[in-house]
Amino acid sequence: AAKGAGRHHWRLFGREMARLAKREYLIHQQLPTAISGSEIFLHFQPQIDLSDGSIIGAEALVRWQHPSMGLWSPQAFIPTVEADVGLARQLGIFLLQSTAHHITRWHADGHDFGRLSVNICARHLQHSCFLDDLDEVLERYPEAASHLTLELTETNALSDLDKSARILSEVRNRGIRVALDDFGSGYASLQYVRELPLDVIKLDLQFVQNLERDTEAFAVGYAALTLAEIRGATVVAEGVENQRTADLWRRLGGHAVQGYLFAKPLSEQDWLAWLQGYEPTVRQPTIPRWRPT
Ligand code: C2E
Ligand code: MG
Ligand code: MG
Ligand code: MG
Repeated sequence: AAKGAGRHHWRLFGREMARLAKREYLIHQQLPTAISGSEIFLHFQPQIDLSDGSIIGAEALVRWQHPSMGLWSPQAFIPTVEADVGLARQLGIFLLQSTAHHITRWHADGHDFGRLSVNICARHLQHSCFLDDLDEVLERYPEAASHLTLELTETNALSDLDKSARILSEVRNRGIRVALDDFGSGYASLQYVRELPLDVIKLDLQFVQNLERDTEAFAVGYAALTLAEIRGATVVAEGVENQRTADLWRRLGGHAVQGYLFAKPLSEQDWLAWLQGYEPTVRQPTIPRWRPT
C-alpha cells in the first residue's frame, strides 16, 4: 500500500512539474505578443498620508489577462520574467512607457493624483541599457518624471551596490523619486538603506500585518522609521488592512500607508472614480506615540 501511495505522490508531483513547465513555456513564448497586444495592463492602488488624509499617489501593479489561462496575478509570471534579463527588460520598458503615458494623460485630464510608482526589478535596473531605456521614455513623456516614483523590487538580485547606487542617483537627477520595496524581507535591507540613494522605504507587509502580535515586527518598523529619518526618506507601510494596524503604525510615528483599508488595486476607471470621490478625513491617533525607554 505504501508503495502505491508513493507512486501516487510521484504522479501528482509529475503533473505539477508539467503544469509549471507549461506555464514557463507559455510565458517565454507569449509575453512579447501579450505586451504588444493589450493583455498586459496595470491596476492602481492608492497611498495615503494618515496625518492629513491627503493622497500621496498610487502604485501601478501589473496584470496579465491571458486569453486561455484567465487573469494572471504578478506572482504567476513575474518570477519567470525576472529570471530572464531579456524578458525583464522588455516588460520593464513597457511598464515605464505605460506609467509615463498614464501620468501624462491623467494630467491632461486635470486629475490631481500625486505620484505614480512603477515596480522595476533589480535585473533591469542593473542592465547596461537601463538609463537609455528610461531616457527614451522621458523623451516621449517629458512631464512624467516629476510625478514618477521608481520602486526597486527583487533586490536579492542586486549584485553590484555601487553601480546600482550610481544608476539610482542618475534616476533622481531626472526628478524621479526612488523607493526601496519590501524592506525587511530581503537579506540585505539594512545595507541597501545605507548605500542606496532613497526617497521612500516600503515596509514589507509581513511586518506591517504583525505589528500587533509580534515585537520583532514592531522593532523592524521602528528601525525603518529611524533609518528613514536619518536619510531624509519616508516610510510607506504596505498591506494595511484595518484601522487597528493604521493606529499602531501612527503609534510608531509612521504616517504613510497603502492597503485594503483604503482600496484594493483598482482598474484605471475605478481608480479615477475613487480619486474623484475621495474625501480626506483626519483621525487623530487613538494611542499615544511610542518611545523607546
Ligand atoms: P509589491 O510591489 O510589494 O506590491 C504589493 C502587493 O501587495 C500587491 O500584490 C498588492 O495587491 C498587495 N496588497 C496591497 N495591499 C494589501 C493588503 O492590504 N493586504 C494584502 N494581503 N495584500 C495587499 P500584487 O499586485 O499581486 O503584486 C505582487 C508583487 O508582484 C509586487 O509586490 C511586486 O513585487 C510584483 N509586481 C507587481 N507589479 C509589478 C510590475 O509592474 N513590475 C514588476 N517588476 N513587479 C511587479
Ligand atoms: Mg511594489
Ligand atoms: Mg512592496
Ligand atoms: Mg511585497
